[in-house]
Amino acid sequence: MPAPPPPSRAGPALRLARRAWRLQYRDSAQSLALAERALAMGDRLGDASAVAWARLAQAYHHMRYGPMPVALREFRAARRGFARLGDERGQMLADVGVARCTWRQGRLHEALDIVLPLRDRGMALLRHEERGMLLNSIAGCCSVMGRPDEAFGYMYQALREAGPARGHGFDTVLYCNLAHELCLLGDQDEALAYVEEGLRRCATMNTPLFHAALLINRVQSLTDVGRAADALPVIHELLAMRDDAVGLGVQDMSFESLAIAALRAGDVALGSDLLQRARAAVDVDGLPDTHIELAVAEAEAARCAGRLDDALGHLARLDPLTREGISLRARCMAWQLRADLCQLQGDPSGAVHALREWQLAHLARSAMASRARQQAASLQTELMRAQRRHEEIDARRQASERAREALSAINRQLSARVAEVQALQLELQQQALRDPLTGLYNRRHMNEVLGPMFLLAQRDRLPLSVVIVDLDHFKAVNDRHGHLAGDRVLSAFGALLAVHLRRSDVACRYGGEEFCLLMPRTAAAMARRKLAAMLKAWRAQTFDLDAGRLTQLSFSAGVADTAAGEWIAPEQLLRAADDAALQAKRSGRGRVVLATP
Ligand code: GH3
Ligand code: MG
Ligand code: MG
Repeated sequence: MPAPPPPSRAGPALRLARRAWRLQYRDSAQSLALAERALAMGDRLGDASAVAWARLAQAYHHMRYGPMPVALREFRAARRGFARLGDERGQMLADVGVARCTWRQGRLHEALDIVLPLRDRGMALLRHEERGMLLNSIAGCCSVMGRPDEAFGYMYQALREAGPARGHGFDTVLYCNLAHELCLLGDQDEALAYVEEGLRRCATMNTPLFHAALLINRVQSLTDVGRAADALPVIHELLAMRDDAVGLGVQDMSFESLAIAALRAGDVALGSDLLQRARAAVDVDGLPDTHIELAVAEAEAARCAGRLDDALGHLARLDPLTREGISLRARCMAWQLRADLCQLQGDPSGAVHALREWQLAHLARSAMASRARQQAASLQTELMRAQRRHEEIDARRQASERAREALSAINRQLSARVAEVQALQLELQQQALRDPLTGLYNRRHMNEVLGPMFLLAQRDRLPLSVVIVDLDHFKAVNDRHGHLAGDRVLSAFGALLAVHLRRSDVACRYGGEEFCLLMPRTAAAMARRKLAAMLKAWRAQTFDLDAGRLTQLSFSAGVADTAAGEWIAPEQLLRAADDAALQAKRSGRGRVVLATP
């Protein structure tokens, strides 16, 4: 059957399946419920991708909580689904699950053969916590094969890949596994610290299984450092946890470890009860350490009952203790107990032999612990270096941000300065155009604007009036009141013009006491009326000067406009106004005369 094309965008079923997948660590029950819904919806909508992802999430759940064969079947089904879709990432994650199940069944090499070849491709293809899952599964194989330094390397790398921010809670699993690994090597205090870290994370999650696994690690570590009594409340906490499908499931509770702790703490009743549970739960194909610990628990129980022969018998059946998969911790534990039992029995040579074996295992364990510590330290250094690099980049980013801010401050200053200079330039320009005494435009400016105003008036067929104003008998003002007073009068006349004229009119000081006004859109008759009004106002103005009051001032003005249409050039218009002004002087001053075309 041809493979159905994968939906181009994630549909509702696939989105649900992905949520189920992401939630597997933070909330196992919710993850399972979502996976079931996604599976049903995916089936209904024919979304093969959703079905495969939902199956994968379910398979991981079953691996942790349910019977292993069910999990394996689900993993294989998911894998087939992903293969049909050409989804390499999904296939890889299904393979990691299969390897994990194989590992749990004690087939370590087979498990490693599945995951190790996936490593390089997986690092490129998988997401953060998924990379961590792959690395963690390799680490698990290395650990059980007695290669703790490699196990540590992979676990720390996994931790780096699945940091708390993006790991969706997977880092909790790693804290648990690191604690277990440290406990195997005899670094109990360190192991307890990792347990605490894991439990802190667990508090924000809803996955009791991880909580339980961390508590089991705590019991083992406490037992190993001779603090079995401190482990008793932890055991009770564990026994009080729900063991249904969304709680602990049928997960291996390591009852044998708990039994050893209870028996060493002197709680024989609890120890015996736990031993019974351990016997019932033991899987003949399970991990070798489980069998050693079960034998140690049996031996402890026999010792408590005063049956030393039985106790030694349980341990003797374990030989040889050097089989692959048996941890040095388990070996040390068995030999140490054997030495104690031999001594109790009055068998010094047996005790010495056991101690000798214990010593060998212990030496190997110390050497491994030292290698692992070195590995951890170098990884720590690497992490610190990465952190420092990150900080450097951050500092550089901040520096460049600061530089950018400084630059924009300079920019702001610069544009303020530019505005200032522009204002200054404008002022200078104005000064070049203006007459300083009256504030009116100067003659140069008038010459510049007369031409364009003239053309504009012609184009728009609107009148432009040109007026020449000459103050009457101004010499006499100077002569009688002084030049300064004359200046004051000139300045006052400038102000009068500014008040009476429109904004579009241009008033210039033409020469000494002569002025020229350009009045667009104004016909000569209108201009004359305006000038007449100004003459009246000028006459009314009084100046109190040192030599007495100055009043009844007047001017003579000539007005010409373009309305007649006969003016062929602005100079002619100007001359006509000038002539009219002369006419005003001649006919008695104090008047406004219209130019005759
Ligand atoms: P008219 O009525 O015929 O125009 O007589 P007038 O005295 O006004 O004419 P005239 O041309 O004889 O004299 C103009 C005077 O204006 C001469 C000059 O001293 C004076 N004047 C020109 N520029 C200035 C100035 O900037 N300040 C002062 N105070 N007086 C000025
Ligand atoms: Mg004059
Ligand atoms: Mg004059």
